[in-house]
Amino acid sequence: MKKTVTTDSRRNFLKNMGLTIGASMITFPAFSALSDSSDATAQQTDAVPLKPLNKDGKLGIALVGLGQYSTFQLAPALEQTKNVYLAGIVTGTPSKATAWKKKYGIPDKNVYNYKNFDDIINNKDIDVVYIVLPNSMHAEFTIRAANAKKHVICEKPMATSVADAQRMIDACQKNGVQLAIGYRLHFEPFNKRVMELGQQQVYGKVKSLKALNGFNATKGTLDMWRLDKELAGGGSLMDMGIYCIQGICYTMGKTPIAVTAKFMDNQHPLVFNDIEQGINWQMHFDDGVVAECSTSYAENMGDLSAVAEKGWWKLSPAYGYDGIKGETNEGKMDFPSVYEQALQMDGQAESFRKGQKSITPGEMGLRDMKIIEAIYKSARSDGKKVTV
Ligand code: NAD
Repeated sequence: MKKTVTTDSRRNFLKNMGLTIGASMITFPAFSALSDSSDATAQQTDAVPLKPLNKDGKLGIALVGLGQYSTFQLAPALEQTKNVYLAGIVTGTPSKATAWKKKYGIPDKNVYNYKNFDDIINNKDIDVVYIVLPNSMHAEFTIRAANAKKHVICEKPMATSVADAQRMIDACQKNGVQLAIGYRLHFEPFNKRVMELGQQQVYGKVKSLKALNGFNATKGTLDMWRLDKELAGGGSLMDMGIYCIQGICYTMGKTPIAVTAKFMDNQHPLVFNDIEQGINWQMHFDDGVVAECSTSYAENMGDLSAVAEKGWWKLSPAYGYDGIKGETNEGKMDFPSVYEQALQMDGQAESFRKGQKSITPGEMGLRDMKIIEAIYKSARSDGKKVTV
């Protein structure tokens, strides 16, 4: 049976939620990002030499995969970035190459396809390769980019298995290049405030947390790789639930020790015949705190909340490109709207240039893959507790 969900349904959902880009104002918050202090960020990289700067003192980036996210978020963001610019593209579709070359003034020598991609090793214009392909292709292209001696940004989820995530980290280490994951919310002020509230115990110790993320993908007419387990690695957990895993970990500032999980009932078996429609799960921490999480491809939702000893907070919506709203027991949070992807790529490019590990390193993606595998393992055993 042909799968029948459009990328339009996803785009419309984001739009309806006020989550599309739209924000022309770009701000660079004065406070520095509070990084997730869990073990995922603890390792420091060996210093790599500073790369020479390209056009206007910026690093050159090549986008690999010119789909929705590259077209409507990353490329426009790269017109606003101050540390990095769109130097090249990698695409399997010649018509896209033509259109992008014209729109962004990309020279022929900086255009690659998936076959000749490895030649990028000889291209001095390109310092960073950004992998924006279906999830199961992240490992291959990250490893090829690392072997071509380029720093890598890889979209979430980092891979479709822990083993692949580890291979990606190993390849980057072997080649002396950096690996960062496209976790844009580490550069977004409302989510950064949540990191502070939780990790610095502004309202005391966190007692309970909740994270929900999903969208309604049940209506539509086109094929979509997200519904194909081989390409996506899984269902809503891989695509949307990963934001809940992130949100809970950066609120707590640590990694859960175990998870319990159950698949939701599949109400749309014709659509979700290869991947899960949704999962409810719990993340268990060493101090006894249990986070409640839920992800679905059949429901629009997107919250991150916590109750601490002396207060509470909630982001709703929490994970969008724009339009994030937040509240604490003291009132509404007041932060500017930012261009998340621009801040993310600028921040990551700066860390590459300085030879410092990104605040969203490959190890963080690996940690999340370990949690994801544990959640699937628990769900397959109908809720058995699985150690992370
Ligand atoms: P998309 O389907 O719009 O684009 C995928 C691109 O990969 C297309 O250009 C397609 O031509 C290309 N491709 C190459 N081989 C393919 C194959 N075998 N099957 C299907 N497509 C193939 O997807 P997208 O929404 O741009 O997502 C791409 C990646 O970006 C995913 O890993 C996704 O999780 C991630 N993403 C991240 C965010 C975020 O907010 N960080 C948002 C959207 C997507």
